[in-house]
Amino acid sequence: MTHAFDLSGKVAIVTGGNGGIGLGMARGMAEAGAAVAVVGRNAEKSRAAVDDLTKRGAKAIAIACDVTDANAVTSMVAQTTKAFGRVDILVNNAGMSIRKPPHVLSLAEWETVMTTNLTSAFLCSQAAYLAMKAAGGGKVINIGSMLSIFGTSFAPVYAASKGGIVQFTKSCAVAWAPDNIQVNAILPGWIDTELTKAARAQVDGLHDKVLARTPAARWGHIDDFAGIAAFLASPASDFVTGTAIPVDGGFSIMG
Ligand code: NDP
Repeated sequence: MTHAFDLSGKVAIVTGGNGGIGLGMARGMAEAGAAVAVVGRNAEKSRAAVDDLTKRGAKAIAIACDVTDANAVTSMVAQTTKAFGRVDILVNNAGMSIRKPPHVLSLAEWETVMTTNLTSAFLCSQAAYLAMKAAGGGKVINIGSMLSIFGTSFAPVYAASKGGIVQFTKSCAVAWAPDNIQVNAILPGWIDTELTKAARAQVDGLHDKVLARTPAARWGHIDDFAGIAAFLASPASDFVTGTAIPVDGGFSIMG
């Protein structure tokens, strides 16, 4: 059965792969044999991530790209194809949050979060589709959130974008099944990253509330995403499509 998880010869694009959960997923796929294109805006972070992946024996490149810019996204996919000859796996992970209740959120803030978290997944998926089809199939992994399921006072636009990710995932899964492209979402629980360092600074008592509600009794680590990414990127998941899988230490099933 080990061959079912082998990613040798496969090429993965990971948006926001230069840190946090994206780097955790990139490590998992690299260790299973994939070459990885690390996509982000911060060149220094991307260089460090490429070093990290290369030290693990993987082929990796950094591509500077703002995933909200359609032309830059098209060029990013072309650069990946030029460097590695194909695209098999796309991880739509880049994301951010602006924490404000709905009555004070500005239209510009709404649009910034929606564009970064949801429109970017549309742009990258559309740009990578033909390359994956040419490769004979592919895997798209979209990153949702517990706020794909739940609501909260301080993140209306983040929750809307992450709810949208799940519905977008289902539609792409149906549309691209005939092309042998599987499309799934991962819903992370509370994970220790730069994003949640900011949340813990802004939301009173968040750290302890998460610990109290999580059956695993800990915050998640970026390495918790290596296995699920390798699984959803590999032939082991060829009959899995349109799902949204929580990786949350049980947060979402706590009564
Ligand atoms: P980080 O802030 O550590 O990482 C976010 C990544 O997104 C960075 O690598 C950043 O790279 C990239 N990014 C942001 N905006 C853009 C952009 N416009 N263009 C290209 N890259 C961009 O956060 P996490 O690792 O925590 O988050 C990763 C994903 O997981 C996000 O979608 C987030 O919503 C989701 N998530 C996180 C949870 C958590 O608890 N941490 C929980 C649930 C979901 P750069 O700055 O170089 O552009």
